[in-house]
Amino acid sequence: SGKWLYLGMDFGTSGARYAVIDKEGNINAEGKREYPLFMSDESVDWLSSWRSTLFSLLEDVPVGLRSRIASISIDGTSATTMIINSKTGKPLSKAFLYNESCGDALPMVKSIAPENHTVCSGSSTLCKLVYWWNSSDANKESAVLMHQADWLLWLLHGKLGVSDYNNALKVGYDPEIDSYPAWLTVQPYYFALPSIQAPGTPIEFMKEEIRKNFGFPDNCVICTGTTDSIAAFLAARATQPGKAVTSLGSTLAIKLLSTKRIEDSRFGVYSHRLDDKWLVGGASNTGGAVLKQIFTDEQLEKLSERINPMEPSPLDYYPLQSVGERFPMADPNMEPRLHPRPENDVEYLHGILESIARIEAKGYQLLKDLGSTPVEEVFTAGGGSKNPNWIKIRERVLGLPVHKALQTEAAYGAALLALKGSAASSS
Ligand code: ADP
Repeated sequence: SGKWLYLGMDFGTSGARYAVIDKEGNINAEGKREYPLFMSDESVDWLSSWRSTLFSLLEDVPVGLRSRIASISIDGTSATTMIINSKTGKPLSKAFLYNESCGDALPMVKSIAPENHTVCSGSSTLCKLVYWWNSSDANKESAVLMHQADWLLWLLHGKLGVSDYNNALKVGYDPEIDSYPAWLTVQPYYFALPSIQAPGTPIEFMKEEIRKNFGFPDNCVICTGTTDSIAAFLAARATQPGKAVTSLGSTLAIKLLSTKRIEDSRFGVYSHRLDDKWLVGGASNTGGAVLKQIFTDEQLEKLSERINPMEPSPLDYYPLQSVGERFPMADPNMEPRLHPRPENDVEYLHGILESIARIEAKGYQLLKDLGSTPVEEVFTAGGGSKNPNWIKIRERVLGLPVHKALQTEAAYGAALLALKGSAASSS
């Protein structure tokens, strides 16, 4: 007995995690698994690896909590795609990974999609589908396209052909009109596209066999998921327009909740739908990777403590690991700028941290210039969020409150989607 709980699972690039939360958002259990390596014909059999990881995670959920899990949701890497036989549930293709390019299909995709559409990239889900359609001699009549999260959820509920509008963006789904666009519906493979729901929508009860085996309750409901980076945004609970999350890991990525949708392919800016709002974002090539080339994590900590964050640094850098920047300035030839280097490393680091903060500020300014809701408050995640003096520098440069996000794990965001779905299914 006890309160109802909600299970989220994150299938990221390097491994999978789970989080069990209660209605208040408290974590009751969490854990992680690496992907086991299954080989078939000298290539990695990802489907077997993910399936095995899914059931390992279900086993990792403490037995005493399982009977209280009201709902489950899963996020996966964006544009990780496979084609399944809708009659047998067997794969008709291998798993195409998020970063895999099917460039052969690009000219055909470009010929049907509007200019600069998100699908016009070799690694888009649509390029993967078109590539498979044109090269496979499998029986295509019963084909159904699934994203990684859809497929994992399907293993739990058994109803084929359901996805969410976050995962489906890169296959061409239009979240604004909430349907597939006309240029897609006339294609011969249109029938293979999944039907689309909002993330965190109840799909079906968990399969009886799995419920019984693992001890989940009869009314445990499986809900649509999202992509891993959106789940990580949801974890920070920035739920009002104007709230944003900056991840400062190896690179700098900003995501802002907006009432208006904005798109600009020059800067790689696009919007994901989140219910009645838009999640707008951009990613710069600056970030912690440059710091890592110059300083160890320990040096970073020691030197940062000696910076006076209230004092502006006169040094103006553009820290990049290699040539080229996309956002907030689109310039493939931009050179890294890290000179002059002062003798004092505290001053040097101060200059770099402040320069990265200026790029962050410029990023939010660009989103505003493109028409988004202006940023009011920033939550921050990633390795750089551990640095309190950098947070103070950023508050001064952005002119906004900046807080370390309390939760940053995508699995936590997926658990919030399960909570949302459970509320929807019981109302
Ligand atoms: P990834 O994007 O690779 O997952 P992380 O979120 O783990 O990255 O962050 C790693 C980055 O954080 C490294 O590039 C490192 O330079 C940076 N970092 C680590 N400690 C600090 C610190 N105290 N201050 C600023 N940056 C830091």
